[in-house]
Amino acid sequence: MNKGGNRNTEQLLMERSVPGRVGTVIPVSDVPEQPMPDASLLRTDLDLPEVSEPEVVQYFTNLSQLNFSIDTQFYPLGSCTMKYNPKVNDEMAFLPGFANIHPMQPEEASQGALELLHRLQGFLAEVTGMAGVSLATLAGAHGELAGVLMMRAYHRARGEAHRTKMAIPDSAHGTNPASAAMAGFDVVTLPSDANGNTDLDALHELAGPDLAGVMITLPSTLGLFDQDIVEVCRIVHEAGGLVYGDGANMNALLGRAKLGELGFDVAHLNLHKTFSTPHGGGGPGAGPVCCADSLTPFLAAPMVDRSDDGMFHLVHPESTIGKISAFHGNFGVLARAYTYIVTLGAAGLKSISGNAVLNANYILDALKDIYYLPYDRGCMHEVVFSADWQRERGVSGLEVAKRLLDYGFHAPTMYFPLIVHEALMIEPTESETMTTLDAFIDTMRVIDREASEDPDLVRNAPHTTPVSRLDEAGAARRPNLRWRRPG
Ligand SMILES: *Cc1c(COP(=O)(O)O)cnc(C)c1O
Repeated sequence: MNKGGNRNTEQLLMERSVPGRVGTVIPVSDVPEQPMPDASLLRTDLDLPEVSEPEVVQYFTNLSQLNFSIDTQFYPLGSCTMKYNPKVNDEMAFLPGFANIHPMQPEEASQGALELLHRLQGFLAEVTGMAGVSLATLAGAHGELAGVLMMRAYHRARGEAHRTKMAIPDSAHGTNPASAAMAGFDVVTLPSDANGNTDLDALHELAGPDLAGVMITLPSTLGLFDQDIVEVCRIVHEAGGLVYGDGANMNALLGRAKLGELGFDVAHLNLHKTFSTPHGGGGPGAGPVCCADSLTPFLAAPMVDRSDDGMFHLVHPESTIGKISAFHGNFGVLARAYTYIVTLGAAGLKSISGNAVLNANYILDALKDIYYLPYDRGCMHEVVFSADWQRERGVSGLEVAKRLLDYGFHAPTMYFPLIVHEALMIEPTESETMTTLDAFIDTMRVIDREASEDPDLVRNAPHTTPVSRLDEAGAARRPNLRWRRPG
């Protein structure tokens, strides 16, 4: 972490502009000069910085280092799986044959890329125990939307358009109810029981002729494996509904449990979490949809199929919900996921879930005497504490998280899931060493001591970052993205 301000970023690029200073040399034109457009289309007052190339490079490099990243710091942001992304994935995605391919190139000239997609469909079907996979969706939430649209199409095709109710647990990621509502479903909340499992009595009450299905996150956002999951699927199926699986956090289950075998009908994966594409800045991502036999005709187009002559083709499933993105999804992300799976192999994938769960439980066990653990049982890939015990001493979960920044750790996810008061959701991921975990645990214990001995120190954190408390809502709603000349 670059502590404090930096000479090279304090002054904005625009403010360093010196008339006549240049950073590029425009080559001599080797094409005939063309007349300029009509003068009314030309601007004379375009404010561009006049700076040298090293100034630009220093400015942006320094700026990039004011931030936290997985490549510089431990990043235990729960539910987001901020793990290390092997650089070889990028190298493969950058191969000219992949990176320079045009999406409208004919199929005969794209066989290698199509084969990669076809193999990836197969790998993901294997991982989830599902029959069909569409790679077209560009994010987890996008996969959810495609998945619930498929559920809607399925019910309509069976003359059951009256199934409009979608039950979603109170611990769900906010995208689940949003996706279901966008697809036209009436969202009803499915409560969790005292152990963090689905409340089966409440599910029985909801399971009627108007139930379209349920959306279940496994493991749940409490980091828990629902011990009744097979029964949940059975109840929903018996009522004629379908079970959607939010598989964004599949690093907990890889090689050990398959959603299809547990009874899920349709699910999405987040390749940019589990299958290692850098993410967090808003994209690009990939949220492939995997489904059971009964739903394959509805998958989003296009998919890749192989004909008897060995050629690969783009195909539209029989009753497809249609195209949901341009072309074939985010190819670069898909190439990274393919590389990741091939380099690890089956045994490597299995060790991901083993280490992810071991690391989270190591933290759970090391901190549960000083941070309140609302669901006191073994967790999966993440552990959700509550800062209630620190709150009693006047220090909130947010302030504990902010204080972590002073020690060089990214904050955990805070105040989510909503059903845990003062939630601190910690996901160490499988890629961190025990040395890092121990350093984090020590720091969490130090912050707890500070909450008793010097609460103001924690309440006013962070003290060492380039900027301290930000107006996050303001930054999201009224972003200031454009430089204006003062005055
Ligand atoms: C990250 C996440 C999502 C949403 O994924 P995006 O790619 O950000 O749209 C949905 N559900 C869960 C449980 C997640 O962790």
